[in-house]
Amino acid sequence: MDLEAKKEKLIKRLIKYGYLKSREVIDAMREIPREVFIPKSQQKYAYDDIPLEIGYGQTISAPHMVAIMLEALKLKENSKVLEIGTGTGYHAALVAKIANKGKVYTIERIEELAKKAEENFKKLGIKNVKVIVGDGSLGLPTYAPYTHIYATCSAPSIPTELVEQLDKKGRLLIPVGRIYGELWLVEKNEEIKKKNLGGCAFVPMIGKGGYDEKD
Ligand code: SAM
Repeated sequence: MDLEAKKEKLIKRLIKYGYLKSREVIDAMREIPREVFIPKSQQKYAYDDIPLEIGYGQTISAPHMVAIMLEALKLKENSKVLEIGTGTGYHAALVAKIANKGKVYTIERIEELAKKAEENFKKLGIKNVKVIVGDGSLGLPTYAPYTHIYATCSAPSIPTELVEQLDKKGRLLIPVGRIYGELWLVEKNEEIKKKNLGGCAFVPMIGKGGYDEKD
């Protein structure tokens, strides 16, 4: 089976099991080729529903987890988004496709990964993503406020700085807990609502608002 057929099979499966729901997210998953973002040696697994190694001890998340997060974010075409943990850039590329009249700021602490992600965006002609190298565990106040913030690495708790950097009706998605944790949704409005979306496994967020690298 070629990669296109494998992609279609995966998308149908994610729809069947309720991970993929909305037209915009499904279209973005169809349009963004995951194989562009993963190392050559792993190409044949591009559309298996598993996380894959991307070097530097990091991973690209399994497609069902990316689908859960994209659906929970409820992005709009003009959203202004902050991603913490660029990795390969795949997740940010999907967000940039959905928020195609908006902007995605993505911060990555490993410079080599950030550079590679930038190349991947260029390859696909994605222009509404800005990559920043640094520690995003306390957010990125320079470009705040954001309509949406999400982390693809797991924090010890929900950093208050991230909630502060959301706009008045912003949404924050963040995995909390070392390796095996829970995915939390924070909805900002007149009051702040927190909802546990269930178990998840992410690499740790390393930095001032995250874990110590030696932990
Ligand atoms: N979203 C990525 C993708 O689509 O390929 C996968 C990201 S990977 C699961 C998590 C990333 O978070 C790693 O690349 C890691 O280096 C990065 N990371 C960890 N702590 C960070 C921090 N404090 N600031 C920025 N990036 C961080």
